[in-house]
Amino acid sequence: MIASKLPAVGTTIFTRMSALANECNALNLSQGFPDFDAPQALLEAMARHVRAGHNQYAPMAGLLYLREQIAAQLLQYRGVSCDPDSEITVLPGATEGIFCAVMACVGHGDEVIVFDPCYDSYEPAIVLAGGRAIHIPLALHSFGIDWQRVAAAITPRTRLIMVNSPHNPSGATLSAEDLLQLQAVAEQHNLLVISDEVYEHLVFDGKQHQSALQFPALRRRSFVLFSFGKTFSVTGWKTGYCVAPPALTTELRKVHQFVCFVAVTPVQYAVADFIAVEPDYPATLPEFYQRKRDLFCHALQDSRFTLTPSAGTYFQLLDYSAISGAPDAQLAVEWTRQHGVASIPISIFYEEPPAQHYLRFCFAKNDQVLLDAAARLCAI
Ligand code: PMP
Ligand code: GLN
Repeated sequence: MIASKLPAVGTTIFTRMSALANECNALNLSQGFPDFDAPQALLEAMARHVRAGHNQYAPMAGLLYLREQIAAQLLQYRGVSCDPDSEITVLPGATEGIFCAVMACVGHGDEVIVFDPCYDSYEPAIVLAGGRAIHIPLALHSFGIDWQRVAAAITPRTRLIMVNSPHNPSGATLSAEDLLQLQAVAEQHNLLVISDEVYEHLVFDGKQHQSALQFPALRRRSFVLFSFGKTFSVTGWKTGYCVAPPALTTELRKVHQFVCFVAVTPVQYAVADFIAVEPDYPATLPEFYQRKRDLFCHALQDSRFTLTPSAGTYFQLLDYSAISGAPDAQLAVEWTRQHGVASIPISIFYEEPPAQHYLRFCFAKNDQVLLDAAARLCAI
């Protein structure tokens, strides 16, 4: 009937594992979303704006009021000035922003460097744009970037590099040195960059998030993506934003206006109100999530899993090699059915999965859920 443009793609692992968790009534530590509510003031702001009649189209680039609040947050947290008019675009989720950025800059036959394990939405966007993903594996266990491999992978067709820090699924973060390397290679070969920083505020152990926006020569060639879903615990509100130089923003908006046109209006008002009243809220997140990470990891001390505490995101990898040599995709399903804890197999995010044995668990959950999940995992 129709030749598929994405023949290798099925339903995402997040959708499948959440459905299985529901079917088995398992604790769902698979798909990344909090099981607790957003701040009350944000929820009330949303209700207020819906009732106040803020229910029609917002301006295509997003409410100026929200873009001004975003600029204030970027100054507060990253120390950078961004022009709300020409550099900030509010989007219906980072996923849409990534898709539009890829569409805007990847053409037929272009090569795009991605790092495995790679977030699942990147390659389909590249393929639909007519490009080709060149997969470079991150280092085993540390999930760092080997910059020599990056240099060796560049060809005259290379157009774009996509990075993600803090990194889903590993939790690894890029250092200032990594971003300097990225900046140098992008400049040397005149490449564009998509920097997926949706977990920017979830960085632990006193470390600072390093943003592509903080490196001027890198910023000049980058689309940087953020998500309110992560920062404000409202993944279902699907609202985020992209910061890019004016020329890149213009091209991003040309695509965005014909994919979704605009982000949801009352969400934009609500988030802007909340940021205006609680600008320091994101600064509370590292402590909040680090405590959950530690609670979960501590409760697993007597298990047969091994772990290195996650450096960022709300995901924790557990190494099950002392328990089983079976594939992670098989165990994720079996353990959801048999032990009532759902997780995400990370081999799914590789072109060629290496010989390692990790499952990803989301710790954005109530403490009792984390303790119950850990108790079940300790029994394996
Ligand atoms: N990038 C990464 C690495 C993610 O984990 C997510 C989470 N869902 C997204 C992008 C998409 O964010 P959003 O829900 O705002 O589309
Ligand atoms: N980013 C979320 C995760 O990694 C999932 C979002 C989705 O289901 N597409 O779990």
